[in-house]
Amino acid sequence: MYFIANWKMFGNLKSINTINRVINLAKLTKFRKAKIVYCPPYTILDKFVKKTKNTRISIGAQNCHHDKNFGPYTGSINAKMIKQTGAKYVILGHSENRQTGDTNKIINLKLKSSLSENLNVILCFGEKLAERKKKKTFQVIKKQINIGLKNVKNYKKIIFAYEPVWSIGSGKVLNNKDLEYQIKVIKNYIVKKFKIKNPRILYGGSVNPKNINSLIEIRFLKGFLIGSASQKSKKFIDIIKKSIN
Ligand code: PEP
Repeated sequence: MYFIANWKMFGNLKSINTINRVINLAKLTKFRKAKIVYCPPYTILDKFVKKTKNTRISIGAQNCHHDKNFGPYTGSINAKMIKQTGAKYVILGHSENRQTGDTNKIINLKLKSSLSENLNVILCFGEKLAERKKKKTFQVIKKQINIGLKNVKNYKKIIFAYEPVWSIGSGKVLNNKDLEYQIKVIKNYIVKKFKIKNPRILYGGSVNPKNINSLIEIRFLKGFLIGSASQKSKKFIDIIKKSIN
């Protein structure tokens, strides 16, 4: 089970020690099954890498630039630079970045440059509320996955994260029946189209210690991408404990 903590634009040097309790939890044999990945902001990425050295926790970035070389891109960081921090993962295609200009084509370039650096990619996709209402959910997701993976030959390092845009940060989550159906449709599509036997599909969108008991019942899920509830170790631990028994 993956538990990926997306800290978004939160966190500073002081935040680093707040993960001590999670590091201790990860040491326990019972939680060996939990693959915990922290994705803090770029500014503290290397500090998190050092902090989690020799632990079972991995570190990832929240985005990257598509150019694999250095270039005149003010404010950007590429996959190579992320790799050099010691981070092993990168989140791509998050809806907050899609909203500010990341197209499926750009995400595909980012994905390929991340894979060429041997990073694990968490590819996010999901529909907006209006698209769901128009019954275009699958059409949207299919396009995001297809273009995102265009000309990619090796899928081993790709983790899929279904995140309905309207669910992120809103407290709203699909009921289990609908969510399970959605994940099943996504899984079947990925298996058939890309010949990936056991795709790792995560769910993200308002996961919290209250709804996790129900979300964990959903078949086909290999874990969760967690935003705000991952910033507080107590909540994050609660989610992990309730998921692993
Ligand atoms: C996210 O940002 O990927 C996310 C799922 O956020 P939240 O858990 O806060 O909805």
